[in-house]
Formats: sequence, structure tokens, C-alpha cells
Amino acid sequence: MELTDVQNDLTEILITEEQIRSRIAELSRDIERDYAGKDVLLVGVLKGAVMVMADFARELKIPVTMDWMAVSSYGSGTQSSGVVRILKDLDTDLEGKTVLIVEDIIDSGLTLSWLLSNLRSRNPESIEIFTLLRKPEAARVEIDVKYVGFDIPNQFVVGYGLDYAERYRNLRGVGILAPAVYS
Ligand code: 5GP
Repeated sequence: MELTDVQNDLTEILITEEQIRSRIAELSRDIERDYAGKDVLLVGVLKGAVMVMADFARELKIPVTMDWMAVSSYGSGTQSSGVVRILKDLDTDLEGKTVLIVEDIIDSGLTLSWLLSNLRSRNPESIEIFTLLRKPEAARVEIDVKYVGFDIPNQFVVGYGLDYAERYRNLRGVGILAPAVYS
């Protein structure tokens, strides 16, 4: 679905499909260089990272494996609390693995910070983070994120995997959701 198909629900089109495609390609070239000769395990966080994982993994010209985790972050409304529960764990043992976490968005960073310490305790050789979007103004914990697609303003966005009440995930780009939709 195109952003223009739901333009009445958006206050702004933030990132187009073409901008996402070209940024993922740029980052993929960096990652191919950084991980040359390594067996990389991409860890996607369900459900938001589905689109970015599908496009990023196919753009990469190095062999990778993929696994998925589902976590729920307790919090009120659109705020994350940092209290996280694993709904679906990885199938892969991380011991000695080269891990690259693939995220859709980092907001407060609380969910990812919890996830990082959980995955680090499984003794991988290395863990780095790839995120399509990051909201620098919303950060509540400092996380060293190696690969960032776009830094965006501190607003609620949807599309390209990101939902509001499970809707808008199939938008080809990213837009700012109009407050009228959720108020
Ligand atoms: P954090 O723990 O970094 O505050 O938030 C993590 C999760 O909150 C993200 O993985 C995502 O599921 C959700 N989230 C944060 N900001 C947004 C946003 O702007 N739009 C949507 N759709 N989800 C968001």
C-alpha cells in the first residue's frame, strides 16, 4: 500500500519507499565490508522488523542466517516501560555467534537495552545493532547503535512494518500518524 492511499491518516510523509531502499543499500555495503568472511546471524524482533529484515537480508551480498524473537514491552499506551517479556525466543544457540540485531525503531531504547543484556548473557562472539529508524530526542538509555537508517523526530510513526493497533504495517514508506487517528 502506498503512503498516499492513507494520506488522510498521516500528517506527514516522512520517508519514501525509494529513500528506504537506497539507505538499506548503503548500509548493506558497509555491513558486507565489516562482516567479510564471517557467518552472521540476523536476529529480527517481531513483528515490526519483518519488512526491514526481508529487504535488508535480500540486499546483502554475503550469506547470513536469520532468527526471530518476539517480546512484549509492558507500558501504558504508546510509552515503553522497559519491562519486557519474551513471547517467542530464538531457535538458535548464540554461543560464539556473530549477531546483528535488526530493529525497526529505537524510541526510548528501553526494550532494546533489555534485549541486549539478555542476548549478551548467551555468550555470542559479538552483537551489533542495525535499526531502520531512531528517535534521538526520545532516548532514555544510551545504546551504541552501529547502523542507523534514519534519525527521525520524536513523533509516532507508522508504515514499513510499524503499526498502530496492527494497522499500517503494509505501507511502503513511513509517515507520521495524525493524532486524530489515535485520540
Ligand atoms: P522503546 O523501548 O525503544 O521505547 O520502544 C520500542 C518499541 O516501541 C518499538 O520496537 C516499537 O514497537 C514501539 N514504537 C516506538 N516508537 C514507535 C513509533 O513511533 N511507531 C510505532 N508504530 N511503534 C513505535
